[in-house]
Amino acid sequence: MLNKKSVDDIQVKGKKVLVRCDFNVPLQDGKITDETRLVAALPTIQKLIKDGGRVILCSHLGKPKGEPKPEMSLAPVAARLSELLGQEVKFAADPEVVGPNAKAAAEALQDGEVMLLENTRYRIEETKNGEAFSKDLASLAEIFVDDAFGTAHRAHCSNVGVTAFMKENAVGYLMQKEIDFLGNAVNNPERPFVAILGGSKVSSKISVINNLLDKVDVLIIGGGMAYTFMKAQGKEVGTSLLEADYIDYAKEMMEKAQAKGVKLLIPVDTVVTKEFNNDAPSRIAEGDIAPDEMGLDIGPKTRALFADAVKDAKTVVWNGPMGVFEMPNFAAGTIAIAQALADTSATTIIGGGDSAAAVNQLGFGDKMTHISTGGGASLEFLEGKELPGVAAADDK
Ligand code: AMP
Repeated sequence: MLNKKSVDDIQVKGKKVLVRCDFNVPLQDGKITDETRLVAALPTIQKLIKDGGRVILCSHLGKPKGEPKPEMSLAPVAARLSELLGQEVKFAADPEVVGPNAKAAAEALQDGEVMLLENTRYRIEETKNGEAFSKDLASLAEIFVDDAFGTAHRAHCSNVGVTAFMKENAVGYLMQKEIDFLGNAVNNPERPFVAILGGSKVSSKISVINNLLDKVDVLIIGGGMAYTFMKAQGKEVGTSLLEADYIDYAKEMMEKAQAKGVKLLIPVDTVVTKEFNNDAPSRIAEGDIAPDEMGLDIGPKTRALFADAVKDAKTVVWNGPMGVFEMPNFAAGTIAIAQALADTSATTIIGGGDSAAAVNQLGFGDKMTHISTGGGASLEFLEGKELPGVAAADDK
């Protein structure tokens, strides 16, 4: 269990509480196209309302890079949150984020009322963790609550800098839930524990592979990163994604797996094509890939092999697609893994990002034990790193 002060440990009646949420939602023409992160933030907000806190929400959205860009305003989030909460969420439209409008709105708040600040990244200092903006944020409230798991791997003003100027810093329910699920899975798993890694590059997941080899019974590698491992096994990979600088690293990881008794599963067949194009003709290749062909998905034998490992698991953690799943003709591997996770009785944890999107799009969302709201944060957690956003909260 996370040993940090939580919203259950603070007295908020009559006090102004600044709550950092992750409202970084996809927007299209001003409409929110996936509100998972808003829904995930509700339990903490509702608890603070019930306890009579004066709730000041804040978040970033997109990358406005220190400029007030109207298309990245949080106004649509305030509107939708009002509907989800069944009460008004006042929006402090303030280009300085903590300017005269925001300050006046915060002062006027009554017990149980809620307001939302403008996009914290309208301020250039936000991502640099600059002191002036941290102080501005802190000046609005008496207590700080961080519930933004999706940002926990970053040390920015609104989740880390601000804590230096607040007397009390707690974490919200979402942060607690994310850390508890990921932490239990990784550090106290029911075995067999199977981790599935995919996505494009070995180089971006080096520490994850290394750390997980100390924890898992089976490590499955698919996606673009698998070709570097296949090359390390002595296979030809044609024009597939290959990180030549990491072949030795892949060999080292294969040796580490063997020394630790971890089963390392790498594709035995792949779907190959001559062009990076959904409509290009494709075939299944076993063994070597021809010099003019590239692998864009795991093949049917590999899907069966991976699904079989998942079937016997008691804990499964998945991060990264098995192929170029954005193209329907190369999505079958990713779909097969999502299906295998939906079918197993194991505890299944999806590490955010592309795998979470794939699982949700396929309609398997409610079949998973936990889908993380933070791709980058969950990946850094799997690397065994301490997340600055979590570390900054007061210990219990
Ligand atoms: P990442 O951001 O590292 O998790 O990688 C996700 C991306 O990896 C997705 O956009 C996939 O299209 C891509 N990907 C997965 N498998 C392959 C592959 N075999 N070749 C090229 N790209 C791939």
